[in-house]
Amino acid sequence: MAIVVLLMPLHVERGEAVSVRVRVGEARSAMAVEHSGPIAARVGRAREVMLVAPIEIRGGFEMVARDASGREVRGRGPIEFRSVMGSTLRSDGRVLGPEIVCVWREGEVFDVVRPVELELYVAGVLGGELFGHWPDSCFEAQAICARSYVVHEMGRATERHYDVNDDQRHQVFAGGEPLEKATRAAERTRGLVLMSEGRVLRTYFASACGGRAASAAMVWPAKGRLEFNAAEPLGGHPRAHACDDAPLYRWSRRRGREEVSSRVRSWATAAGHAARGMGSIVRVEVIEVAPSGRPGVYLVVDDRHGRYRFLADDLRVAMNDGRPMPLSAADRLPSNDFEVEVLGDRVTIRGRGFGHGVGLCQYCAAQWAREGYSALDMLGAFFPGARLGRVEEVR
Ligand SMILES: [Zn+2]
Repeated sequence: MAIVVLLMPLHVERGEAVSVRVRVGEARSAMAVEHSGPIAARVGRAREVMLVAPIEIRGGFEMVARDASGREVRGRGPIEFRSVMGSTLRSDGRVLGPEIVCVWREGEVFDVVRPVELELYVAGVLGGELFGHWPDSCFEAQAICARSYVVHEMGRATERHYDVNDDQRHQVFAGGEPLEKATRAAERTRGLVLMSEGRVLRTYFASACGGRAASAAMVWPAKGRLEFNAAEPLGGHPRAHACDDAPLYRWSRRRGREEVSSRVRSWATAAGHAARGMGSIVRVEVIEVAPSGRPGVYLVVDDRHGRYRFLADDLRVAMNDGRPMPLSAADRLPSNDFEVEVLGDRVTIRGRGFGHGVGLCQYCAAQWAREGYSALDMLGAFFPGARLGRVEEVR
């Protein structure tokens, strides 16, 4: 494995607490909040009102939060709810932490945003993203990735009322008490982030690379506001891999030609892509590859000699399009690294790995950890040329 030596700080200092605004509820019309003590509610800068749990929050022309005795707060501005005793609020048995902010939105609904201290957030992501029995150094590598990713996203989120969603659109955040192993990994890597050219790196990660790292700039757009996808350490460089034991290391799917073609058209219509007028697929070629050899851009040829160019992940998403009927997990393409064979009215797709393939590969990291590599060894392989920095440098 190619190992780039990163600068390891001799000791980790405690910086100022950084809070991540995690959206844990989206477009809700109602929510019940349970708690064992009083809840202080505040609309904007008004004085706090003490409510007694359970409280019911409803959307509508404005938000209304009311307790059983009829005491209430209402308004269209964000409403903050805080446990007076500092213990956790819950909804439907789910842990919400000691404080939430409900933000009214058009459509008479509201979002629920939970402020979470950065290191607690990192530990919570590890619980959502890794298996509990995986080794410590794998957790530490993922901790540095999860922290860098969220700090990068926080830098882009200045115009919205949350930094990240709690699901796979960003990182899966479990929310409850983190695993002890996860808390330890966050603590041991406290404040560390990966940097490139003086900026925090968007440290993507995925389940299984299947043997070839993807280039972020081929998988996704990399111009203008998304220029960070062109960072050198995300370039899909050749490296060793160790994820052979991942369940989707190799996979194949057999689908109908018309069915696949029609899903690609549906996706293209919604995305404004030229393939919205496409006929039936006759061939898919790889026209650009990452330095690792992984496909970066595909060309789809139809039965009318139309030729349509797709970024790798766009074609995966297009072939998985849920219109008119969602596909089952057994029919979906798990990654953007595949070959397509069209025979008569059947399409066979043979592929590698699970996920987008950019950055850290979780199954590779687990295996390298078992072989004794440290988190920094691995990050040097996954993000060649990156350097280690601290959250305080970039915020
Ligand atoms: Zn891998």
